[in-house]
Amino acid sequence: MDKVETLVIGAGVVGLAIGAELSQSQNVLVIEQNTHFGEHTSSRNSEVIHAGIYYPKNSLKASLCVQGKAHLYKHCQAFHVPVKPIGKVLIAQNHDEAEKLEAIRLQALNNGVDDLVWLSKQSQPNYAPDLNLCAALYSPSTGIIDSHQLMCSFITQIQQNQSLYVANTRFVKAVPDENGFVVYLSCNGEEMQLHCKNLINTAGLFAQDIAHHIEGINHALIPELRYCRGQYFTYQGKHPFKHLIYPVPEQHGLGIHATLDMANQLKFGPDTEFIDSLNYQTDATQKAKFVSAIKRYWPYLDETKLHCDYAGIRPKLTLSGQQDFVIQTELQHGITGLVNLFGIESPGLTASMAIAKHVKNAMQT
Ligand SMILES: Cc1cc2nc3c(=O)[nH]c(=O)nc-3n(C[C@H](O)[C@H](O)[C@H](O)COP(=O)(O)OP(=O)(O)OC[C@H]3O[C@@H](n4cnc5c(N)ncnc54)[C@H](O)[C@@H]3O)c2cc1C
Repeated sequence: MDKVETLVIGAGVVGLAIGAELSQSQNVLVIEQNTHFGEHTSSRNSEVIHAGIYYPKNSLKASLCVQGKAHLYKHCQAFHVPVKPIGKVLIAQNHDEAEKLEAIRLQALNNGVDDLVWLSKQSQPNYAPDLNLCAALYSPSTGIIDSHQLMCSFITQIQQNQSLYVANTRFVKAVPDENGFVVYLSCNGEEMQLHCKNLINTAGLFAQDIAHHIEGINHALIPELRYCRGQYFTYQGKHPFKHLIYPVPEQHGLGIHATLDMANQLKFGPDTEFIDSLNYQTDATQKAKFVSAIKRYWPYLDETKLHCDYAGIRPKLTLSGQQDFVIQTELQHGITGLVNLFGIESPGLTASMAIAKHVKNAMQT
């Protein structure tokens, strides 16, 4: 039977970041069920490098986002991954919202994000032209990134470190033995087995399903999975924005905000909708909702230029309230060598490299 020290299940940005990190000191195999890496959440997001503003103090999201942001900017420079630290403007449209922004500023400070600045009345039109607003905060360390190139750079690292990434290889089940796990795989439709000492489950929207196929796991420790779709509408035309524009956040997401991609295309979203199954179908009937949310802060929106584009799905663990990343090691589930990652929603792209270092440290303790 083939042997590998560590098997990573899932080649999204998090699995690949973990593969790149671990391959510096051990022999790693990253497997992906699809023909291409990153076809699920890692290619269906906003591609924003988040500053780490909103998350509760001492949460994994807060610490790993702030650390991950710093690692990413450095990594992008070293590996020539396209990135633009274009900053974002958080806008308030009335006094109540301005108070919420102040609470957000203090939360950010708690998380170590100390670079948020209030924009003066004079500078507001420069940073946030044509917008209805009464107050605005600017976050200079927020940026955008080419997530596909980022994933390519992780694969390059994995290969340079003599480890492997293979596509068309699906995890079927794992059975623990005295030295690790016997893992059953389906490679291009053919069944095979291999042995690994460590098993990292970073399968995103499939992580719960994978966990249910690891023998000996306590099923009560596997959190429920709730699909929460976020849909985007693209604006096909000229626009006045140089920075990302975010209204005050909502309960399950950041509100219908405006982001730019590396080609300066403007898009709005994602919205939030809980759905019953894994379905990336977009729903053009949501346009009226988008138009009304956008016009609240950008009254000049030409709605004929707004087109339904794509959707991503957040791996939520609950239908309400805040949730943190869940990273379970032997300490939680009692199985040596197994790491399960659940609920890696936003800011998982920003945090990917910090999650990788966190997993590496957790495996050593
Ligand atoms: C709408 C939306 C917007 C977002 N915006 C941002 C943002 O702007 N900034 C940010 O930081 N984060 C953002 N995120 C979060 C970020 O995209 C995710 O946290 C990140 O992409 C998760 O990566 P992953 O590797 O955990 O999961 P995935 O990308 O889903 O990868 C998991 C992989 O596992 C594979 N897999 C599953 N089952 C098996 C199996 N049996 N065998 C082998 N392989 C398997 C899948 O095919 C998949 O490729 C956003 C998320 C959403 C939904």
